[in-house]
Amino acid sequence: MTITSTPLSLFVLGKESDPQSERGVECPGDLPPASDPALVERARRAKAALGDRLFVLGHHYQRDEVIQFADVTGDSFKLAREAAARPEAEFIVFCGVHFMAESADILTAPEQKVILPDLAAGCSMADMARLAQVEDAWDVLAAAGVADVTVPVTYMNSSADIKAFCGRHGGVVCTSSNAKSVLEWAFQRGEKVLFLPDQHLGRNTAVLQLGLGLDECVVYDPHRPDGGLTAEQLAAAKVILWKGHCSVHGRFTAEAVDDVRARIPGVKVLVHPECQHEVVLKADLVGSTEFIIKTLEQAPEGSAWAIGTELNLVKRLANAHPDKQIAFLEKTVCYCATMNRIDLPHLVWALEQLVEGNVVNQITVDEETSRYAREALQRMLDLPGETAKD
Ligand code: SF4
Repeated sequence: MTITSTPLSLFVLGKESDPQSERGVECPGDLPPASDPALVERARRAKAALGDRLFVLGHHYQRDEVIQFADVTGDSFKLAREAAARPEAEFIVFCGVHFMAESADILTAPEQKVILPDLAAGCSMADMARLAQVEDAWDVLAAAGVADVTVPVTYMNSSADIKAFCGRHGGVVCTSSNAKSVLEWAFQRGEKVLFLPDQHLGRNTAVLQLGLGLDECVVYDPHRPDGGLTAEQLAAAKVILWKGHCSVHGRFTAEAVDDVRARIPGVKVLVHPECQHEVVLKADLVGSTEFIIKTLEQAPEGSAWAIGTELNLVKRLANAHPDKQIAFLEKTVCYCATMNRIDLPHLVWALEQLVEGNVVNQITVDEETSRYAREALQRMLDLPGETAKD
């Protein structure tokens, strides 16, 4: 069986181009200098000039300098739904990463334009599952005689063509909030799940929420022949985890949990399910960014927390809750580099171009990909109680 070689781009983000990648696509803009003291005022003026024609979405992991201009903040799925609920907005400026803008384009009307202020804002996790690799993997599953009984499930954090692959093969999309009910849905329809692209979310959900054994999960490595798995291993597995991970959450360590417990007596450790299984096992609570935000809002005054998620969000939460002690879990983990590509100069540039009538950095998903990706998204939305969730 062939394997598709996809070395990750090593060039400086935003300085060269790789049309196959979520990342590293050159931003053509003539950006204002970051030192321009008028940037905040320029962004305000451009936003006011565009009025209701514009809707700005800000992901929780965005910088403060950008998030202040967001009309709504949230995780990727909440933001895509917010975009879909604003049919009057001609321009949706998405302060997030590429796959999120794609989802917004899939869920909005054809005449609405989705704009990503910096085209280099991709997601390394989404890049770890390319369509050709996933199609090869499906062939490996077919050769092992298990494709017919496998339901592909992809995390929201994947490119539109991977969502469309799932739509085409009777599969579904999940978020970090609903992965358990999505996996239950999948197991009502098949004997196995191919979980893309985040092995950690897949493993944490299968083992800790569905009660499967670790030995019932295998990891498919797209860089090894046949994924590094035998037909017997595929036949015995319940969950086939794609070998992908988040380059931010995947770096939190179990040692950091021990360390913070030693440093802060009584601390509660709260981590995102994209963290490694051994980190999640040691944590007190695990949940999506929306869950982390709500948990801290409801936490009693004086309580101490160590949070394992992206640093921009943790800093913002610490500032929002001065009555609680909120620490970042790990010393060596920092911001999501690609999320951080969206800065004030890029936002000002994109908004001012719109004021002048130039649509820049528009993200479009072709009609066929959109149709199948929408099918996979719709199966998730049709799950009982799903529309009420964040
Ligand atoms: S935090 Fe992780 S999953 Fe989110 S955009 Fe960054 S690399 Fe991708």
